[in-house]
Amino acid sequence: MKKTKNIGVLTSGGDGPGMNAAIRASVRTAIYYGYKVFGIYQGYTGLIHDKITELTSRDVGGIINRGGTILQTSRCKEFREYNGRKCAFENMKKYDMNALIVIGGDGSFRGLHDLINEFKIQGIGLPGTIDNDLFGTDFTIGFDTAVNTALDAIDRIRDTATSHARLFIIEVMGRHSGYLAEYSGIGGGAEDILIPETITDIKKICDKLEKGHRNGKRSSILVVAEGDEAGNAFEIKKKIEKVVNWEIRVSILGHIQRGGSPMAIDRLIATRMGYEAVLAIKRGETDKMVGMDKDTAILTPLKKTWTIKKKIDPSLVKMLDILST
Ligand code: ADP
Repeated sequence: MKKTKNIGVLTSGGDGPGMNAAIRASVRTAIYYGYKVFGIYQGYTGLIHDKITELTSRDVGGIINRGGTILQTSRCKEFREYNGRKCAFENMKKYDMNALIVIGGDGSFRGLHDLINEFKIQGIGLPGTIDNDLFGTDFTIGFDTAVNTALDAIDRIRDTATSHARLFIIEVMGRHSGYLAEYSGIGGGAEDILIPETITDIKKICDKLEKGHRNGKRSSILVVAEGDEAGNAFEIKKKIEKVVNWEIRVSILGHIQRGGSPMAIDRLIATRMGYEAVLAIKRGETDKMVGMDKDTAILTPLKKTWTIKKKIDPSLVKMLDILST
């Protein structure tokens, strides 16, 4: 491994609250240890098209509490091809940059892994996604804030659902992962949670809702992950309407889950991960992701973060079943 010269930092793919805290920590730690740091704008697009600026400690002041990412993000088709990555590498050489910190999800990590292996650069990933779907970390940057945003919405919907005695189906993000639905459903006291990791049984859900109704429940809430195999919230509504005859309303939370000021947990883990990323680079580590294992920062080979499926604890599903009666 060549000695690290300059370090580049970028955010890529889906954004999430806390990314700015990770940028701030990486930049300041790198400067502390004597590295020059470059901010790369709009993810891999900026690396290919030279949207690159040197960052000082002052440039990352006043951002720890801000949602989104000051470096902006993008989906970049060109980076999926070897020629795109070669262009990115050429720009890295131009700035004497041979290490990258990439804050993003599994797609961003796949791209980083290719770049590392094709051009022998040094690269560390930080898990930035509201989905919490990466193996190698208990929590990803943005997840906790997204859960809190969903909880706020569920609480508000519960008020109106109870007033009118309605069933609400609330759709949260999560095309391939039910973490956000699971945590916000448990925290919001949902009657049931529909996630891609488990087979949705409409009949069983309806039986449970009717039982609750007979027991005096005035409102019911189902939290659905957008990627549930039984369909989206509107399709599920149609299926349930065939069995029960209550008023059913659908609420899709959508992109509000991505925004907002990061909550304490996101600021803390993002800060720790940003700091640890630079220490890892300093030690010569590469092709790894920084994650949190309880209260300890750990490294996991990038490839494992998407090849190993992070499992939802089945005991949580059982617990919800008991508590929602
Ligand atoms: P996320 O990082 O949040 O999962 P994406 O899946 O959109 O978001 O990935 C972000 C970017 O990473 C893509 O726009 C692309 O530039 C790059 N990328 C994604 N998948 C790959 C891949 N298989 N090979 C190379 N680059 C990829």
